[in-house]
Amino acid sequence: MSKHKNRKKPLAPPPEPLPGVVDAHSHTWDSQFTDDHEEVLARAWATGLAAIVQVGCDLRTTLASRDIAATDARMYAAAGLHPHSASDLPAERDAIEAAVAGGDYVAIGETGLDFYRNLSSPEDQYAALLWQLDLARRHDLPVIIHSRDADEDCFEVLKEWAGRVGRYLGPDREIGMMHCFAGDLELAGRYMDLGFLISVPGPVTFPGNDRGQEVARSVPLDRMLVETDCPYLTPQPWRGRRNEPAYVAETARFVAGLRGIDATDVARQTAENAARLFGFSLDAPETS
Ligand SMILES: [Zn+2]
Repeated sequence: MSKHKNRKKPLAPPPEPLPGVVDAHSHTWDSQFTDDHEEVLARAWATGLAAIVQVGCDLRTTLASRDIAATDARMYAAAGLHPHSASDLPAERDAIEAAVAGGDYVAIGETGLDFYRNLSSPEDQYAALLWQLDLARRHDLPVIIHSRDADEDCFEVLKEWAGRVGRYLGPDREIGMMHCFAGDLELAGRYMDLGFLISVPGPVTFPGNDRGQEVARSVPLDRMLVETDCPYLTPQPWRGRRNEPAYVAETARFVAGLRGIDATDVARQTAENAARLFGFSLDAPETS
């Protein structure tokens, strides 16, 4: 009994508040949050988060993201089929598109290519990615891209697509985000040229992550997002434990340290970038 109670406690002290920061990529529909979802969200708001984007990975979690977002005006949802679930495209395509047509989503994804785990075949991953790029264009939504061990393959697909669709959301809006960007600064530059924002996750805080830290130090601040990808990719000092939206404050603070600027500036600018990409207002009234 006491063991169970301990499990429901916060796993570590919450981070220092950082008013206005946005978690651009979260999965609190995950079963790791079943027991304490309300407390997790309460900690996020207490930390000062201005918004959280809930991201779907298949039909079930696309609908769950929408349902969670509906509980608070500061949360938004994305509809997508993760590369791991790409083989479900024939079964889930119509229902995902119907959900998107309902108008409750701010983005398509996460989608992309993952040749590290290859849980779906490369052929299925390409098919799901191409379908979602087309879906985003048809519904005037940005895309959320997952790329793992597929840097150049993913870049080639997005380069062709971006060249074809242009800045379809308007001249001043990007067309997507590179979620949990793990490439080098050169690749980040090429993606920014295509119209993508570069999203920095928790592992930027890991000692020895020189490549990630170089990206976080050097990418123009008006092209950067910060995210948790919770429950995964937990930043220091909670590494090895469950991640949660509140911890995005620590990632933003670490980025500020790398750049020698104030954490509130990183929070404000990355929040403005998220609002611009996803087309939401940072003035959403509190509803909980
Ligand atoms: Zn994710």
